[in-house]
Amino acid sequence: MELNLGTKIKITWCPGCPNSQILVAFRRAVTELVSEEKIKIENLVAFAGIGCHGKISDYLNINSFTSLHGRLIPAMTGAKCANPELTIVGFSGDGDSLDEGVEHLIHSAKRNSDINIFIHDNRVFALTTGQADALSPKGFKSKSTPFGSIEEPFNPLLLVLSAGATFVARTYAGDFDGTKRIMQEAVKHKGFSFVDIIQPCLTFFDTRDYFKEKIYWLGEDFPTNDLKVAMEKVQEKNNEKVPLGIFYNIDKPTFEEELYK
Ligand code: SF4
Repeated sequence: MELNLGTKIKITWCPGCPNSQILVAFRRAVTELVSEEKIKIENLVAFAGIGCHGKISDYLNINSFTSLHGRLIPAMTGAKCANPELTIVGFSGDGDSLDEGVEHLIHSAKRNSDINIFIHDNRVFALTTGQADALSPKGFKSKSTPFGSIEEPFNPLLLVLSAGATFVARTYAGDFDGTKRIMQEAVKHKGFSFVDIIQPCLTFFDTRDYFKEKIYWLGEDFPTNDLKVAMEKVQEKNNEKVPLGIFYNIDKPTFEEELYK
């Protein structure tokens, strides 16, 4: 079947915004997953929250749902409970799911709901024109922190690992193939999948030069079934390196399996 995942809606992200790379990586990931019969396009539903990322559902010709700010995860888990045959993917931002909706993120990880959440991690409230959020680094100067933020940021991967997530990964939007591959592995995983996608905001917090120096991919021999090793590795950025890849991937009964058994 020939898939047309694009729409006629004009893309209004800033020129060069890495959100476009995430969009294209996802379309390619879906096209391949459908052709390999890993998912059915009619069963795929994309959810989005509020933020620059949220426009992505306008640019995808698939079933979609746009939620209130930070509330996409309850809608995702509700849909999955109502119809466990669905493949549920959610696009969210750090402001959307690490500030407004952080309680939903923690509890869905704890439940091991069989849903996939992709965080467009730009470390700033971009849609509202550049305020500090939960992932902004200490010292970050913004409209809301003109003298520099005095708070340390969350480590989102450590947070969801602690809460019980069974698939935890990080990628970089500028690495198109890497992002596509991680998205596919997340969707194939049965259980709660969390993917942190580093997505520099070119307008309000351009971190491209910073990450270009820091990122590297985990080796193929990295053990993805050891929680202690995963927790240590996701904190490696404190040592000025930022590893990308799958940190944790284990099998465990899902919330929906427990619900219907
Ligand atoms: Fe992208 Fe930042 Fe522009 Fe939003 S404000 S569209 S995140 S570059």
